[in-house]
Amino acid sequence: MNILVLNCGSSTVKFQIIQTDLEMMKNDSERCLASGNCEKIGSEQALYGMRATGSEGIKGVRPLRDHREAICAIFDWINSGQAGIEGVSSLKDIQAVGHRILHGGERFTKSTLIDDQVLQGISDLIPLGPLHQRPQVMGIQACREFMGHDIPQVAVFDPSFHTTMRPINYLYALPYEYYERYQIRRYGFHGTSYRYVTQKYAALTNTPIDKVNIIILHLGNGSSVCAVKEGKCLDTSMGFTPLEGLVMGTRCGDLDASILPFLMEHAQLDGKGLDDLMNKKSGLLGISGLSSDMRDIEEAAVSGHERAKLALDMFCLRLTKYIGSYFAEMHGAQAIVFTGGIGQNSPIVRAQACEGLECMGIDIDLALNDSLKRGTAGDIARADSRVKIWVIPTNEEVMIARDTFTIIRNAECGMRNSEFVMRNA
Ligand code: AMP
Repeated sequence: MNILVLNCGSSTVKFQIIQTDLEMMKNDSERCLASGNCEKIGSEQALYGMRATGSEGIKGVRPLRDHREAICAIFDWINSGQAGIEGVSSLKDIQAVGHRILHGGERFTKSTLIDDQVLQGISDLIPLGPLHQRPQVMGIQACREFMGHDIPQVAVFDPSFHTTMRPINYLYALPYEYYERYQIRRYGFHGTSYRYVTQKYAALTNTPIDKVNIIILHLGNGSSVCAVKEGKCLDTSMGFTPLEGLVMGTRCGDLDASILPFLMEHAQLDGKGLDDLMNKKSGLLGISGLSSDMRDIEEAAVSGHERAKLALDMFCLRLTKYIGSYFAEMHGAQAIVFTGGIGQNSPIVRAQACEGLECMGIDIDLALNDSLKRGTAGDIARADSRVKIWVIPTNEEVMIARDTFTIIRNAECGMRNSEFVMRNA
């Protein structure tokens, strides 16, 4: 089955066409046939790039007013006859679409086939994450418009892995009525990545999924940590929105909330201004004054840029603190697992995050850490380390394709939506 995986962000659309079937799912050997993205959507100078695997593809700049237009541009390329995608000469060769959806609220705890009611339910959650959820609704509608109303579409909710959290973990210590009235609670994000990495760790170490006790650090432009106990989420660092927790590229993470009314009074910032400050101007960028990209930060820190070094140190110290607190909360763990663009590629961050954790039996092998080949999985702990330290590249797109395939196959087998048996869900 050829599945289009769509990931609509606030001003971006990323896509992959993934070929999968039961055999490929079992062997973790799905194939990406094509991929691409549109950025700066909403501007006259939007960027696009699309390519069939193994080819040069196309890229350029053009006006893209909204996500519908961006998806239309991607579909025009697929239909053009020039894309050169193996086995796909038009949209008719794509059998289903899987969408990454930011928020499922408390209603959607698993990936779900999208019908009118589900689409309405996803739209109803726009207030919880307007910047992402609105374009994602637009993405579903655009697929119906251009691929036909009946094209099977599946919603894969980013927080669904975290629905096993207990109230003790997901509640804020605000008056309880605020949870009941406004659903203010911790939801957690990067769930699709955590589900993939948990399954991959189980396979790599031959551990039954319900015996997996690990701390996963998903470190990218957005970063979070997840305590996985018995294969399920016990706790995670992102909360009501993807702002809480770690220091990120442009997000501040944990903050004393009283800073906000203070800034409203003294820096004349309104709600929108505060939101921008915390989400777009803080983190690595805000501290360094240089860049939100960890590669730039590392390079500058090494060449003596003091605030870049400070940003790097703050990023890593926050990691160390979270690992320590989750280790205690879980009563110990088998492994720490690094993933995401930074987790997979930065030996500097991995080494520094593990500094001082030897007292908990977490002992990194610096030579193995430095020599691990990019893009590969490996254990980088010292042989005598009580806790293993793994690097496992994530693949959220494949996870979305798997859920889509499983749900559609189950639907074809005539099972009711509520009875879908999700693989390890
Ligand atoms: P992601 O959001 O998962 O795509 O990750 C993006 C982040 O990964 C950016 O901050 C990049 O700077 C970072 N990254 C990618 N490659 C490297 C690398 N070789 N060393 C350090 N950071 C990297």
